[in-house]
Amino acid sequence: MRTTALMSTAAPRSLQQTVIERRELRPDDVDVRVTHCGVCHSDLHALASVGPGAGLVPGHEFVGEVVAVGSDVTSFAPGDAVAVGNIVDSCGTCTMCLRDQENFCVEFPTLTYAGRDRVDGSTTLGGYSGRYVVRDSFVYHRPTSLDPAGVAPLMCAGITVWEPLRTNGVGEGTRLGVVGLGGLGHLAVRLGRALGAEVTVFTTSEGKATDALRLGASRVVVSTDADAMAAAAGSLDLVIDTVSVEHDLVPYLRVLDLDGTLCSLGYLGPIDIQAMDLLLGRKRLTAAGSGGRRWTQDLLDFCGTHGVTADVEVVPAADVDVALDRLARNDVRYRFVLDLADIDAELA
Ligand SMILES: [Zn+2]
Ligand SMILES: [Zn+2]
Repeated sequence: MRTTALMSTAAPRSLQQTVIERRELRPDDVDVRVTHCGVCHSDLHALASVGPGAGLVPGHEFVGEVVAVGSDVTSFAPGDAVAVGNIVDSCGTCTMCLRDQENFCVEFPTLTYAGRDRVDGSTTLGGYSGRYVVRDSFVYHRPTSLDPAGVAPLMCAGITVWEPLRTNGVGEGTRLGVVGLGGLGHLAVRLGRALGAEVTVFTTSEGKATDALRLGASRVVVSTDADAMAAAAGSLDLVIDTVSVEHDLVPYLRVLDLDGTLCSLGYLGPIDIQAMDLLLGRKRLTAAGSGGRRWTQDLLDFCGTHGVTADVEVVPAADVDVALDRLARNDVRYRFVLDLADIDAELA
């Protein structure tokens, strides 16, 4: 089946509408008409790392409706409101997959774009397109009570913060810190608050304080203010650090109370920490990324119940280059979402 996709070109951060072919439905496949796809920082990294002519189609947090299903599919039907995230397949039999952690699949999960299809070996092409064909196990029911554009970022930014919030047992009265108020951070604040946590936001930009409070934080600490950081020492149970550039983690270990946990979600490379920074207070340093199927559906269900979505700026598919440029400058509050509903209009 043919569909229109936004594909990389020789020019950096420039995508072009290109007609691509999606596979014929396998028995366990779902054909999704994509209406909205979030623009993730990973998309920028992927575009920067592929050579000209690689034909990359980014996009791994999208929503839409089911068009058709394969002969063995029982949990979806045409017209269903669905969402797809950054994993579209996994081995299904390893120790991680068997514990609902397909994101840590020992054989590596199949990524939604630039991944390798487990059946035919082809390179996956992402959600910046009108249609996507995906194995049913990696399609999720999406609450129709929520704005679909605001749901799309839940599928990457959202699940990435949700899994550590859940697995660290965040609930009523948890003292939660969130470092960085971007795509991930703003969702960590909102979800943490909806779980009942008292949320402290650490930010370098004082200008984000009002927004942090609006999103549900009860305290904002400017992380460059040494006195404010010292005053916050020992005050938190869990800190979710969403900053993806190299930075010192020690100040965020110091704001933890006894047995507190610092969870870093950025790919920081080598980390420099003295054992004493962990020993004093029996603190834990951990990391996480993406999410398994179980937590992903859990997130969507929770957001439906609690009315949680991302703050998005919806842009037409034709403006994707502008969105990518602005994202590269961090000029977005808090996630760009491409409107893809009409991208296949000329194909018909
Ligand atoms: Zn992403
Ligand atoms: Zn596996």
